[in-house]
Amino acid sequence: MQKQRAIVIGGSIGGLFAANLLERQGWRVQVYERVADDLAGRGAGIGTHDELFAIMRELGIAMDESIGVRVAERVCLDERGAVIHRLAWPHVMSHWVRIYRPLRERLAPDSYHAGRSFVEFTDDDGELVAHFDDGSSARADLLIGADGLRSTVRACLFPDVQPLYAGYVGWRGIVEESTLPPALQEQLGNSYYFALPPGEMLVCYPVPGRYWNYVWYRPTLDDAELTDLASDATGPHVRPGLAARLKAIARSALAPQLAEVVERSQPFFQAIYDVETPRIAAGRVVLLGDAAYVARPHVGMGVTKAALDAASLCRSLESTKDIDAALARYVRLRGEFGRRCVRRGRRLGAYIEARARPHLAWPPGALDQSPERLLREIGATLAEIPELGIDL
Ligand SMILES: Cc1cc2nc3c(=O)[nH]c(=O)nc-3n(C[C@H](O)[C@H](O)[C@H](O)COP(=O)(O)OP(=O)(O)OC[C@H]3O[C@@H](n4cnc5c(N)ncnc54)[C@H](O)[C@@H]3O)c2cc1C
Repeated sequence: MQKQRAIVIGGSIGGLFAANLLERQGWRVQVYERVADDLAGRGAGIGTHDELFAIMRELGIAMDESIGVRVAERVCLDERGAVIHRLAWPHVMSHWVRIYRPLRERLAPDSYHAGRSFVEFTDDDGELVAHFDDGSSARADLLIGADGLRSTVRACLFPDVQPLYAGYVGWRGIVEESTLPPALQEQLGNSYYFALPPGEMLVCYPVPGRYWNYVWYRPTLDDAELTDLASDATGPHVRPGLAARLKAIARSALAPQLAEVVERSQPFFQAIYDVETPRIAAGRVVLLGDAAYVARPHVGMGVTKAALDAASLCRSLESTKDIDAALARYVRLRGEFGRRCVRRGRRLGAYIEARARPHLAWPPGALDQSPERLLREIGATLAEIPELGIDL
């Protein structure tokens, strides 16, 4: 019998999970990735979940200690460096590449096409044809859009859906621990830190290889400031003047321990967006990961959500020979999950957005910036979030 064929657009985390899982189920899968170089150089620290590791194990990926760094507690520091709140929080922090690399290596080299940009699809009497910017095309029974925040597959299905800017950016940096003063290394230990300047949030945590990763969420004045930041980036990093300004603000607004980490970094930034897709499948075209829904990173679930979407899609396809029935099941299960993630991200980031957009009507509860709440809710595990953990 001829194998069923899937085309995956996007060769990052979501696309690789889907491709590996479908291949294991006997599908013939081809992945098309716009970026020509290896993606391993991108990404930074990520929070992990047991559910993510379970899917990796299912694929036969050995999970040893090198996958992450164990943190035992969360600590919130004020601007003088004093502890204002502590919370026991056993968790594994990893790095994007530790998830990406084994997934990429498992895929046969001739199933992964780097440097091929998807443009549109057509339907040729029930067979899907994906068209690429070099004029080539490929045919399949199923087209999977795993092409991220600015998904072209989503745009083909829903041209009106645009990512909504949340009014703030996440300044990020990663610093080799050995470059920090020995006393500071000892003081930081293996904890997960928070700083909460008014209307802002910084999280800072260790990642594998003995690095410290931070994300500092700060409002921009308006869309023009965002455009200005983006246009001034040189490579992945921002221009030196901007980095110097950020470091100066760090010295006055953050605990000296955390300001020191920022000081030694080469900052870059990611604008924070919400994306909600009306429906995550149409015909034989399906969306997953950030192509389907983007929840603000405070949910700490982007990578796990992409993996869970892929697993749910593959289980749905495994459970029936009827692809349309399988996709209907997938839409039911993962659509609601994605919408809930987006809502949760909006709620957790509301107090930061409110500083950027004070003219909007914010209910007082939305502005709660208390460390007691945030240390508990940011990047919580699925089991700790009843609204996401329930079996939809
Ligand atoms: C500041 C910040 C912090 C974050 N922290 C965390 C965290 O702690 N934990 C966590 O789990 N997640 C985190 N995330 C989210 C996480 O990075 C993403 O949710 C996750 O990478 C989604 O994977 P994906 O495969 O769906 O999309 P992506 O990783 O965006 O991949 C999409 C791929 O599609 C390719 N592509 C795009 N268009 C085309 C095209 N036309 N043709 C071919 N290929 C194309 C792209 O090049 C890309 O490789 C964070 C995000 C941000 C912004």
